[in-house]
Amino acid sequence: MATGDYDHLQQAARDHLWMHFTRHSSFEDHDVPIIVRGEGAYIYDAKGRRYLDALAGLFVSQLGHGRTELAEAAAKQAKELAFMPLWSYAHPSAIQLAERVAQKAPGDLNRVFFSSGGGESVETAWKLAKNYYKLTGKPMKHKVISRSIAYHGTTQGALSITGLPGLKAVFEPLVPSTFRVPNTNFYRAPQHGDDLEAFGRWAADQIAVAIEDEGPETVAAVFLEPVQNAGGCFPPPPGYFQRVREICDTYDVLLVSDEVICAFGRLGHYFGAERYDYQPDMITCAKGITSGYAPLGAMIASDRLMEPFLKGHASFAHGYTFGGHPVSTAVAMANLDIFENEKVFEHVLANQDAFRTTLERLKDLPIVGDVRGDGYFYGIELVKDKATKETFEGDEAEKLLRGYLSKALYDEGLYCRADDRGDPVVQLAPPLICDQTHFDEIEQILRTVLDKAWSML
Ligand code: PLP
Repeated sequence: MATGDYDHLQQAARDHLWMHFTRHSSFEDHDVPIIVRGEGAYIYDAKGRRYLDALAGLFVSQLGHGRTELAEAAAKQAKELAFMPLWSYAHPSAIQLAERVAQKAPGDLNRVFFSSGGGESVETAWKLAKNYYKLTGKPMKHKVISRSIAYHGTTQGALSITGLPGLKAVFEPLVPSTFRVPNTNFYRAPQHGDDLEAFGRWAADQIAVAIEDEGPETVAAVFLEPVQNAGGCFPPPPGYFQRVREICDTYDVLLVSDEVICAFGRLGHYFGAERYDYQPDMITCAKGITSGYAPLGAMIASDRLMEPFLKGHASFAHGYTFGGHPVSTAVAMANLDIFENEKVFEHVLANQDAFRTTLERLKDLPIVGDVRGDGYFYGIELVKDKATKETFEGDEAEKLLRGYLSKALYDEGLYCRADDRGDPVVQLAPPLICDQTHFDEIEQILRTVLDKAWSML
C-alpha cells in the first residue's frame, strides 16, 4: 500500500471508525493495526507484515482465509437472489441449511431459527423459553441461570445473562431475572480441588441450589457453554453435563448449550454437546457456521419447543431482517461441504493432542500457571507465583496485558488475545486447518514474549 494511502487510512480510522471493545486512547502513540488480507492461517497488515491468526479472527475463521469456493458461493447467491427475509417466506439455501443443521444437531433438535450472530441467537433462545412456558401453562417461568465470568453477548438480554459484572455495570439496569452459579474453573476450584469429578458434581449441583432459591416455577432456562471461554477455557469435568441434564429434567428447566464458539469443529465435532455427550433443549451458534465469509447465527430448538407454535393462531413474534440472509446461508452450505469433503473435523481430532502437548511445553515458564482447553480451543493462565497460584491484579494486570503482552505478541507476528475478564489468560483458537508447524510457531512466539514479560516484572 502506498504511503499516502496508508496515512489516509490511519487518519480516517482515528477520525471516524469507532472500534468495538476498544480503548481508543491507545492509538495516541501507536498505529491502528489495519489488516488487509488473509491466506490460510495467516493475515497480513497494510505494511505487508504477516501474522499467524491464532484466534481465527474471533473464534470464527475455521477454514482460514482466502477460500475462493466460499467467495464464489457468496457471489453466485448474490447474483441469483440477493435478499429475501424469512418473515413468512423462505428461500432455498435457508431451507437446505436448516435441514442439514437439524440432521447434525443432537437428538430431536430439529428446528432452526436463523439470526445474524451469536448475541441475537442468545436473545432468541431466552425469548423462546419465556414464550414456550407461557403457551404451555407455566407463565411464571422466565428466569435464566448462567455461570460466573461467562460471556453470552452484548445486547441487553444477552448481556444480562453474561456473568461479567465489569462489562455490565455501566449499562445497568439490564433485563432483570438472571442469576449466576459457579463455573468449572478446576484450577481455582473452591471445593474438591483434588477431585475433578467431585468438583464437577458440586458445580452442577449449584444449579439445583439456584433453581430452588429462585423457585422452580419461575426458572425457564440454564445457559452454559460446552467449554466456557471467558476466564480462559474451562472444559466440563466428566459427568458435569449429565448431572446438569438430570437437574434440568427434575425442575423442568431448559438446557441451552451456547455454542457460539464451540460448534462447527472448534472441538472436533459439529457441536460441543456431541463431544461431551449431552442433550440440550436448545443450541445457540454463529461464528464458525460460515467460517466468517458472511455473518450468520442460529438457535436450534427441540421439536417439543416448537410444538405449541404449530397450531392455530400461534406464532413466535420474533425475527431479524438479516437472519438467515441468502448469501450467508449459501456460504454456510459451501462451508459445511468443505468441512465434510476435506475431513476438517477428523483433522482436528487427529491433531488436538499434538496442540495440547505443544502448548503444555510452556508450563516450564514461571509465568504459566495453567494450560487448559480441548480441541483447537485453549487458554493459558498467567500467574505471579506458580506455587500459590497468586494472580496479577489491578495495575500489574493492566501493565502486563494491555501495556505489554497484546502489543508484543502482535509485534512478534502472533494475532491472539490477552484477556483479563477473569484471571489473566492468553486465548488461542487457531483455524481448524492448522497443524504442527503452526502449533510450533505459536509456542515459540509465546515463549519469547512470556519470557520477556517475566523478566520485566
Ligand atoms: N455467546 C458466546 C458464548 C460468545 O462467545 C459470543 C461471542 O463471542 C456471543 C454469545 C455473542 O456473539 P456475537 O458477538 O456474534 O453477538
